[in-house]
Amino acid sequence: MSNPTALVAGNWKMNGLTESLAELEALETLVKEGKSADCDVLICPPFTLIGAASVKADAVAIGAQDCHGAVSGAHTGDISAQMLKDAGATYVIVGHSERRADHFENSKIVKVKAEAALAVGLTAIVCVGETEAERDAGKAVSRVVGQVEASLPEGATSAKVVVAYEPVWAIGTGRTPTVQDVAEMHTAIREALIKRLGEDGKAVKILYGGSVKPSNATELMGAANVNGALVGGASLKASDFNGIIDAYR
Ligand code: PGA
Repeated sequence: MSNPTALVAGNWKMNGLTESLAELEALETLVKEGKSADCDVLICPPFTLIGAASVKADAVAIGAQDCHGAVSGAHTGDISAQMLKDAGATYVIVGHSERRADHFENSKIVKVKAEAALAVGLTAIVCVGETEAERDAGKAVSRVVGQVEASLPEGATSAKVVVAYEPVWAIGTGRTPTVQDVAEMHTAIREALIKRLGEDGKAVKILYGGSVKPSNATELMGAANVNGALVGGASLKASDFNGIIDAYR
């Protein structure tokens, strides 16, 4: 089986007003007019911009940063997977470490959210990652593999699920693991996916996230079993994000 097509995904987090759609337009131009890249490109703006972003986006796919696990109902302030699809999203990130920390989401909750996403035809980007204390204690691989096993939705296939490995201590800090550490973790995740999904586990995209920027993207994306990036800070400016996409040109 050939390697999965890579995915370079941007997570705007709680950033972006209507005027920020100009960055999306700029990115569209860079992707369309630049040398074609051997990857898919995705931007996940805040909920409030998904509808408008979907209208503007063409070469860039649009996704969300979270969804509720229920289909509909009395969940004030929450957004369902179907609402995201209706607004034009095709992907949704679930289990980002900021959601796990700020909203007490454990892998059981993340799994339900991913299942809600799959049920309406969205691709779920399931995030996993160890804390610095877990890495220092030598427990990074077991922690992350455990999260993968517990967070993967029923019915997962390589077409419906992407895994994003994001060490918590590397997010927004400017620090990254070594290429060897990234390769070790991604290979462990790959093995867990093959154990769970058989041959199809080889085709699941495994993204690396945490302080990816144009200057380190080529090196990080070159590590074994890395099939793209999940990018926070450097996804806010079209030129920076395009510099990361360059790793696939
Ligand atoms: P960062 O965030 O690129 O700003 O480190 C990555 C993420 O949280 O997805």
